[in-house]
Amino acid sequence: MTTPGAALARLVEGFDRFRAAYFETDHTLFDQLVWEGQKPQIMVVGCSDSRADPTMITDAGPGDVFVIRNVAALVPPYMPDGRLAGVSSALEFGVKGLAVSHIVVLGHAMCGGVRSLMEYGDADPRFEFMGRWVGLLAEAREEVRMLVTEAEPALLARYAERASVLVSLRNLMTYPWVADRVRDGTLALHGWYFDFTWGVLMAAEGPRGPFRQLESTDRTPEPAIGATRTDEAA
Ligand SMILES: [Zn+2]
Repeated sequence: MTTPGAALARLVEGFDRFRAAYFETDHTLFDQLVWEGQKPQIMVVGCSDSRADPTMITDAGPGDVFVIRNVAALVPPYMPDGRLAGVSSALEFGVKGLAVSHIVVLGHAMCGGVRSLMEYGDADPRFEFMGRWVGLLAEAREEVRMLVTEAEPALLARYAERASVLVSLRNLMTYPWVADRVRDGTLALHGWYFDFTWGVLMAAEGPRGPFRQLESTDRTPEPAIGATRTDEAA
């Protein structure tokens, strides 16, 4: 185990390598990103978990992906109630401001947020805020409990993690400006699941699953909701 100080020093060393790669050796990419702005085609909603970094596991580069991260990769339903909305405002910026073509909800194995949901519902006594947050996924908890009984908690959690991705995916469609763009064919919604116990990436085939393993031969993975534009499939 590294000490906290050494762990921080590793990040600073990492920045040295990043700077060498993108600023000292060849700064063309960042020059372009500065002058032309960011134009990512993909938005990912991922979990804050340190083991499931969306850009790290997909080997994405600067400017490739607009990322929202929170506990359990959750998209809350559309709630235009005037309260502060971190996820919804990032979602709005990605869809309206950047006009992304794809939104990927990326869940993962051994998610602490989903485990809290399964154990405590919306009232985790250990935390002040998290219970209410993961409680937005109550539908996934009920769905799994209806389907599977007397299973190992770990097995239930794997089901619930995937069911949670599907809840967030369906919640995306409650935002009118997401649903409009899905309907006119300019936005596709994907539900992905990174199982790092096996080292596999899976994708939902529809808004209620099932999930299947993504292969590198899937040049344009089919979305769970919406259509892949033909110009990209070519
Ligand atoms: Zn998680």
